[in-house]
Amino acid sequence: MTTDLIGKQIPVLDKGYIQLLDMMPHPNTGISGDLAIVNAARVSFLGESKGSAQDKKLLFYLLRHRHTSPFEQVEFKFRVRAPVVTWWQWVRHRTWNFNAQSGRYTPFQENDFYEPDIWRKQAADNKQASEGELDAAQAAELSKLLTEHYERGFDLYSKALEMGVAREQARVFLSGFAVYYTWVAKIDAHNLMHFLSLRMPNDAQYEIRVYARAIFDNFFKPLMPWTAEAFEKYVLK
Ligand SMILES: Cc1cc2nc3c(=O)[nH]c(=O)nc-3n(C[C@H](O)[C@H](O)[C@H](O)COP(=O)(O)OP(=O)(O)OC[C@H]3O[C@@H](n4cnc5c(N)ncnc54)[C@H](O)[C@@H]3O)c2cc1C
Repeated sequence: MTTDLIGKQIPVLDKGYIQLLDMMPHPNTGISGDLAIVNAARVSFLGESKGSAQDKKLLFYLLRHRHTSPFEQVEFKFRVRAPVVTWWQWVRHRTWNFNAQSGRYTPFQENDFYEPDIWRKQAADNKQASEGELDAAQAAELSKLLTEHYERGFDLYSKALEMGVAREQARVFLSGFAVYYTWVAKIDAHNLMHFLSLRMPNDAQYEIRVYARAIFDNFFKPLMPWTAEAFEKYVLK
């Protein structure tokens, strides 16, 4: 049931998640995202659905020929919890509308830090990428050091708060890229496909790729199966 997907929360990374808060058209209207796109396109000649086969054909035609505005008639709203390293890359996409947690209002908690499952090695031929993993002994050592580092930073943060330092400034003691943030973000299907096309491929950093993949597999694909199929065929190829 696609209505069950509204509110569904998918765990991502060690402490993060992506949750679909809302969608337009809402699944309980009985109008799928795919149909909303077809209906929007057919307004050109004041028509609507002509049955599944023709509707799907039209939708594929629209995406193949980059007639993109009907895809903007579908919207998704998500709640995301992810480390700042993910947030930092996500906000480069200007077509999302965001509201984020504020470290000025809400103090961070001791377990608000990203602890990677694996440690990826620097890629030899791509300055931006990783390849392979550290061996188990090295990884265990590094994870232990990271925990100590987080604990030390959190102790200093707590001490600064106790001394009366403002939350907005005390956070300089925290491990900036690793701290978990929560935000609400809205986007239309056209711009979401652009985001997914950049953040799902292997050259995107793992810590954002897993969120993009979670959106596509758990929400986009079941809620807009024709669009997802056309997107895989013409955009992701
Ligand atoms: C693998 C990878 C590596 C990256 N590495 C770096 C890096 O090293 N350094 C870095 O700074 N960034 C980096 N980025 C970020 C990248 O440069 C883009 O800022 C980001 O992917 C957002 O893309 P966008 O502008 O197409 O998306 P959006 O901001 O979502 O915009 C969508 C589209 O709208 C249009 N648009 C939006 N705003 C404007 C505007 N003001 N003027 C004109 N057209 C507009 C453009 O057509 C754009 O493609 C990287 C991204 C990826 C995926």
